[in-house]
Amino acid sequence: MVKQAKKQDNTPDATKRTPSARGRAKTTGAHHRRNDTQSTGNAHDRISDPPALIPSFSSVEKPKASNRKTTPSRKREMNRTSVDILDTVSSMESVPAKKRETRKTAIENKASKSTASKAAKSTASKVTKPVQPTVEVEAPVEKPKRTEKKRTSTPPVDPDAKLRVIPLGGLSEVGKNITVIEYGEDIIVVDCGMGFPDEDMPGIDLVIPDITYLENNKERIRGIFLTHGHEDHIGAIPYALRTINPPIYGTRLTLGIIKNKLTEHVLANTPKLCEVKAGDVIGAGAMSVEFIHVNHSIADACALAIKTPLGTILHTGDFKLDTSPIEGEMMDLTRLGELGREGVLLLMCESTNAERGGFTPSERKVGESLEYIFSKHQDKRLVIATFSSNVHRVQQIIDTSARHGRKVAVTGRSMTNIMGAAIELGYMNVPSGVLIDLSDIKRYRPEELTIVTTGSQGEPMSALYRMAYSDHSQITLGQQDLVVLSASAIPGNEKLVGRVINELTRTGIKVMHESAVAVHVSGHACGEELKLMQALTKPKYFMPIHGEYRHLMANRDIALYMGMESKDIFVSDIGHVLEIDRKGARFTQEEIPSGRVLVDGYGVGDVGNIVLRDRLHLAQDGLIVIVATLSEDTGMLLSGPDVVSRGFVYVRESESLMEEARTVANTAIMEGLKGMGSYVDRMALKKRIKDDMTKFLYAKTGRKPMILPVIMDV
Ligand SMILES: [Zn+2]
Ligand SMILES: [Zn+2]
Repeated sequence: MVKQAKKQDNTPDATKRTPSARGRAKTTGAHHRRNDTQSTGNAHDRISDPPALIPSFSSVEKPKASNRKTTPSRKREMNRTSVDILDTVSSMESVPAKKRETRKTAIENKASKSTASKAAKSTASKVTKPVQPTVEVEAPVEKPKRTEKKRTSTPPVDPDAKLRVIPLGGLSEVGKNITVIEYGEDIIVVDCGMGFPDEDMPGIDLVIPDITYLENNKERIRGIFLTHGHEDHIGAIPYALRTINPPIYGTRLTLGIIKNKLTEHVLANTPKLCEVKAGDVIGAGAMSVEFIHVNHSIADACALAIKTPLGTILHTGDFKLDTSPIEGEMMDLTRLGELGREGVLLLMCESTNAERGGFTPSERKVGESLEYIFSKHQDKRLVIATFSSNVHRVQQIIDTSARHGRKVAVTGRSMTNIMGAAIELGYMNVPSGVLIDLSDIKRYRPEELTIVTTGSQGEPMSALYRMAYSDHSQITLGQQDLVVLSASAIPGNEKLVGRVINELTRTGIKVMHESAVAVHVSGHACGEELKLMQALTKPKYFMPIHGEYRHLMANRDIALYMGMESKDIFVSDIGHVLEIDRKGARFTQEEIPSGRVLVDGYGVGDVGNIVLRDRLHLAQDGLIVIVATLSEDTGMLLSGPDVVSRGFVYVRESESLMEEARTVANTAIMEGLKGMGSYVDRMALKKRIKDDMTKFLYAKTGRKPMILPVIMDV
C-alpha cells in the first residue's frame, strides 16, 4: 500500500479531474504535467513523503481520470499542453523518463483511497487546483448502508474486487471471438462469434466457443455487447441462446443481421435484443460499456470502452482507420484520444494485420478500381463476388453500375439476406430501377448487367462456385463474362478460392482478383493504425487479441515499439485469466473451460474428439468389418466370419488378401473360443479378432484401417 501511495504522491491532478471533466481537462493542462511527474517517479519517491501529497480521492475519485498516467515515455508525449500548473515538478523533467514503469492506474489511485483522508488535510496544497472537483457520481465507493440490498442500480462495490479478463475465443486462432470481462459479481461478454472448421474436422459445419463458464455463471451476466455484425463476432449467438439469455447490445445493422440469423433457429428463449448507437453508454452492474464508432469492412462497427471501478478497458473490436469512408464518419479518434487522456487501464486491440506495415487503404480505393474495370470492360457482363456483409463494397458496385447504365442482379442466400436488411435499415441506397430480379436477367444484354454474388471464398455450394461448375440454375457463365473477386481469401480458404479460379479460367472466363487490381482492401488496421491506437489510448496494460499467435506477437512488438514495457503486455490465450487489481495485473493459474464446440447438422457439441478421431481414421485408412455368428447355447461358431471392407482396398482386385484376412479372423475366433465353453466372453473375443487382424493387415499392407468385429448370437 505504501509503495503505491508513494507512486501516488505526485498525481494531484487526478483530484481535479472529474467524471465529467473530459472537456475541461484539456484546458487545465494539469494532467499533462502529470505525465512528467509519472515518468520521473523515481526521483519523486526520493523527494516526497509517501502519503503526504495524496490528494483527496474520496470526493472525486474516478478511475479513468487517474489512468492517464498511462502516458508512456516521452516518446509518446505528443499531446502535452503548454499550461504548466505543477511548477513544483517541472524541474523534474530533466530526469530521464523511465518509460512506463512508473505509470499508475486507477487501481493504484483506488489503492490510495484508504489514505485519502489523511491526504485531504495534507499538502496537496502544493498544487493549484484549476478545476473544481465534482462529487463522484458513479465511481465505486463502498456504501455500507446499502449492503443489505441485494442488487440495486448502483450496487455496493467490494473495494477488493478484482477485474478479470478471460478470452474464450479469438486468440491464437482466427474466428470465434468472445471475451469475458468480470468485475466482482458482474460479468459482461464482448462478442460471441463462430469459427470455421479446420481440415482435420471432417463433416463439421462450424465451430463455436465453449461457453461452459458463462452457463455456470448465468445469473451474473449483465449483457453480451457486440462490436459488429461479422460471423466471427456474432455467429455463435443462436447457439449461446440455447443455454444463456442475457440482453444483447448491438448497433442497428448488427442486430438486423442477427435477427435474420435467428429466424433460421428454433429458440427456447426470446432473445432480448437492445439496439444502441455509437456514443451510447450502457450500465452493466458495476461496469458500463460505451460504444465508439470505428471503420471496418462492415457498417456500424464499434469499439467498446468498458468502464470498471478499476479503470477503463478499451476493446477495439475489428477496426481500421478510413479517412474517406463510403458512408458515415471516420473512426472516432477524438473519443479514443479523450479516453487516452482520461486513462486506459487495458487496451485489447485486434491483431489481424499486425504483420503488415503502413496504413490499410480506404474503401474508396476499391471504388476507383471498380470504375477502371467498368470502363475497360464495357462489352462484358460483370460478375462480382464479395463478402455479403461488406455493405459499403456492395454499395460501390451498385453505384458504379448505375453510373455505367447497368442493372444489378443479386445471387446467393447471404447476399440477398444481408442486402435486404441493409436496404431496409437504411445502410444502403439503391437508385430506383437499378436492382432487378435474377429471373429477369434474360431480358438484358450481358453488357447491361452486373451480377453481385457470394462465393468470394470459393465456398462449395456458394453461388459463384455453382456458376464455375455450371451448376447455377439461372446463370451460365461464358466468354461474355468477366469475374471479379472483390475479396481476399481468409487464411485457410486459399485452396478453395484457387480451385474456383482454375475452374473458371479453364472455361475461358477471365478472372480478376486482388493480386492484379486493387479490387479489395482489408477491413483491419495495419501497423501504422495500430500505432495510432496505442498513441491515442496510451494504455497501462495491453492485450493483443483477434489473431493467430504470430499476429498477437506482431501486435505486441508494435506496443513495445511504442514504448510499452514487456511486463505490461499480456499475450493471453483462450481460457487464461488476466487478473487486475490495485496492485497490478497478472495471469492466474486458473484454467477456465474453453475450446471449440463442433456443430454438425443439428448436433451441437455431440461430435467430440473421439468422434472426430474416428472420422479421420475412417477417412484416412478405411474400415474392415468382421461378422461372425455364434450359437447362444453352445458358444460354437455357426457361420462366418465374413470380412467386409470400405475405403480400405478395392476388394475385386484384392481377393487373395481378403481371403487371407478371413482365415486370420477365423483362426482368431477358433483360438479364442477354445476353453471358453458355453460362456463366451464377447469382449475378449472381439479384442482378439481386432488385434490379430490389425497385425496381419499392417504386415501385409502397411495400413491400419479401423477394424470392427461384430458377433451375433443365434
Ligand atoms: Zn473479426
Ligand atoms: Zn470483422
